[in-house]
Amino acid sequence: MKILDARILIIDADPEVVNFLKHHLGNQHVIESIPTGIEGIAKGSSSEYDLYFISMSLPDISGRDVLHAIRDVHEEAICIMMSSNPSIDSAVQTTQMGAYNYISKPFDAEKILPMIHRALERRWYILEARRLRQERENNLAELNVDKSRLATVINAIDDGILVINQKKEIIFYNPRFLQLIHTDRQILIGDSMFRYLPQSLQKQLCEILQKAESEGKTNAIKQEIVIKPPLELVVMANTATIFGENGQCLGAVSVLRDITEMKQLDQSKSHFVNMVAHELKAPLAAIHSYLKMILDNALGDDIVTYNTYLKRSLERTEALIELINDLFNIFRMDSKGVKRNLEKVEVATLLESLVEFFKPKMEEREITVNLALKHGLYINADSEEIRRVFTNLISNAIKYNKYEGHIDITCVADGRWVKVSVKDTGIGMTSEEKDRLFQEFFRAKNIYTRNITGTGLGLAIMKKIVDEYAGRITVETEFEKGSTFTVYLPRVEN
Ligand code: ADP
Repeated sequence: MKILDARILIIDADPEVVNFLKHHLGNQHVIESIPTGIEGIAKGSSSEYDLYFISMSLPDISGRDVLHAIRDVHEEAICIMMSSNPSIDSAVQTTQMGAYNYISKPFDAEKILPMIHRALERRWYILEARRLRQERENNLAELNVDKSRLATVINAIDDGILVINQKKEIIFYNPRFLQLIHTDRQILIGDSMFRYLPQSLQKQLCEILQKAESEGKTNAIKQEIVIKPPLELVVMANTATIFGENGQCLGAVSVLRDITEMKQLDQSKSHFVNMVAHELKAPLAAIHSYLKMILDNALGDDIVTYNTYLKRSLERTEALIELINDLFNIFRMDSKGVKRNLEKVEVATLLESLVEFFKPKMEEREITVNLALKHGLYINADSEEIRRVFTNLISNAIKYNKYEGHIDITCVADGRWVKVSVKDTGIGMTSEEKDRLFQEFFRAKNIYTRNITGTGLGLAIMKKIVDEYAGRITVETEFEKGSTFTVYLPRVEN
C-alpha cells in the first residue's frame, strides 16, 4: 500500500518549502518544483503527478486557480495547499474545490510527514481502483467480443442447432435450425419443444433425456430424420446431453445437418450399380448357356450350328467389352480432376476422317451420306473426347437408320459456336423416348430397336463431355421419320 518513487510536484517559489520536502522525501520519491502558477499548471497538467504541493500565494496567479486548473485535467489529483497566512475560509474553500489538505507554513515535520504518508496511501488506493476498473473493462470487452464472435459463428454455420432444458423447453436455436425443420413460426425461448419440433426429433430428445436421468452420462444419438414435404429434406440429427458441474443433466443439444444431397447421391449410386449388374448379367448368362451347350454337345453334330453359337458368344463378348469401355468413360467423366490434353481441333477434318472410318458400315446397309462442312472452324478440346462425341452421333445415325437410309452432316459457324448437325432418316423417337435420351442405360424399346446392340451409355457420356466444354446438344426427332442431333461447341480463332 505504499507508492515507491512517487512523482511529487511542488508549485511554490519559497526555497524553504522545496528544501524541506526534498530533504524528507527526496531519497524515496522523485521531486520536481516550479516557482510560478502558470508554469505549474502547464507541468502539472501535462502528466499526472502522484502528489501536488501548491502554494496559496504564487508570484503570478492564485494557488486556487492552479488547484482548479490541475483538478480540471486530473480529477483525482491529490493536492495539498500550503499557506503562510492560513485562514479557515480559504481552507474550507480549497477543500470544497477538491484539495486533499490545507497546511500552514513553515512545516512541522512531525505533523506533516504522517499526513503526506496518508496522502500517498490514498493515491495508492486511487491507482489500484483505477487498475481494477480498467481490468474489469478489458475483461468485459473481451467477453463481449467473445460472445459476439460465438453468436456470429453459431448463426452462420450451415448446421441447425437446438438446445432444450430438462423440462423440454426450447432455450436456444439458430436460424438454420428453423430452416431445417421448416417452420415459419417464431419459436419463443421457453416454449415447449412439443409445439414445434418434428415428432422424430421430439422422440430422440425424450429418449436421450430419459436415458440420462436413469443412467447418467449417455452417448450421443445419431438418427436420420425426414422432414415432411414440401421440403422433403433428409436431416441427420445428432443429439447429446448437457451435464452440469455437479453431474446433473441440464438438457440436450441437437445438431441438425442436411444430408439430402448425400442421400440422393447414395441412391443414384446404388441405382447405377444395380443397372450395371443388370446389363452385365444378360450377355454373360447368354455366353454361359451357349458355351455350356457346346461343351455338353447339346447342339447335335452340325458344325455350322456350333459356329453360329460361338459367333453369338463372340458378339456378346464384344458387346460386353463395349459396355465396360463405356463404363470406364462414364466413370472418367464423373471423377474430378480428369486430365485433358487441350488442343485446337479443326472440326471439319475430324468429321471427314470419322465418316471415312464408318464408310464400310454405311455401305453394309446401303446408307448414303452428304457432307456440308465449313473448313477452318476450330474448337479448343481434347481430340479424344471430341472424337468420342462425333463417333457416337454418326454411329447412332447409322445404327438407328433404315436400310438404304441417308445421313446429312453439316458443320457451320453459328455466332461464337461451331455447330455440327447429324441428320438421319432413321427410326426416330417418340417424345417420351426423347425425354429420357441422355439418361444412363436408356435404350428405346420398340420393334425397330430389338436387334440393335448398344449400351445406352453413349449419349450420356456425350452429354457429359459437351457440358464440360460449356456446349449444348439439341435433338429434333419424329418417330419413324428420323432424327437430327445438333452439337454446339465454343469456337476459337485459329
Ligand atoms: P446405345 O446406342 O448404345 O443404345 P446411346 O446412349 O447412344 O446408346 O443411345 C441411347 C438410345 O437413344 C438408343 O438406344 C436409342 O434408343 C436412342 N437413339 C440414339 N440415337 C438415335 C438416333 N439417331 N435415332 C433414333 N434413336 C436414337
